[in-house]
Amino acid sequence: MQTYWIKVEDIDVKLVFKHIKHLHIGVYPPRGEVRVSVPFGFQEEYVRQAVRSRLPWIYKHSERFQRAASQNMQKMVSGEFHYVWGRRCQLSVTEQPGHALVTLEDDRLDMRVPPGSTSDRVRHYLDAWYRTELKNAIPGVLRAWEPIVGARASDWGIRRMKTLWGSCNASSGRITINLELAKKHPESLDCVVVHELVHLLERGHGPRFKARMDRAMPDWRARQHRLSQSVSSPGLWTPS
Ligand SMILES: [Zn+2]
Repeated sequence: MQTYWIKVEDIDVKLVFKHIKHLHIGVYPPRGEVRVSVPFGFQEEYVRQAVRSRLPWIYKHSERFQRAASQNMQKMVSGEFHYVWGRRCQLSVTEQPGHALVTLEDDRLDMRVPPGSTSDRVRHYLDAWYRTELKNAIPGVLRAWEPIVGARASDWGIRRMKTLWGSCNASSGRITINLELAKKHPESLDCVVVHELVHLLERGHGPRFKARMDRAMPDWRARQHRLSQSVSSPGLWTPS
């Protein structure tokens, strides 16, 4: 595989030459990298033209990912927007002696934090709250879907993962859920849990895996697509 970068207008474009028939342009998280898969033998000028003709589409998508990346670098101050279960909520941070306290009312995320808390500290308090939200939600999701899938998780855990929404250990039966899912619409948590439960029965993502997914959750492809397109995703849906 041969790879190099070119510049088209003000955009850095990564060319990846492959044994394929058609040229493919993609914009990828987390930062909106523009990558073109190019069949061997294609001229660079042809690739440039193809990229130029799709610039509006590229700008639209790379901006979306950049916005998402900046979402992850929030200062944790009042007025910022943070996502909870797919809803965009406005943050309000107030210093108050005692334990940190997070409450969600309508679309207002109210945080009481000890005086002098740094932004890292505030982020830590909010992450702990997200974790509790997820912890409260997962048992019900498992109860609802285990009989439908026909598999049972022996145990589950929550972790922040960079590239995976969920993972599982088929031999121990334990599944792990990405903390970031507390920011996504609840349909995504359902979809990831079902995906991992199916892995307890089928390794890999072959036809048998897909058939089981289709039977348990007929709209899983659409859910998976919406999750991969949602803002502030940690990355593409990477099958695990
Ligand atoms: Zn998988």
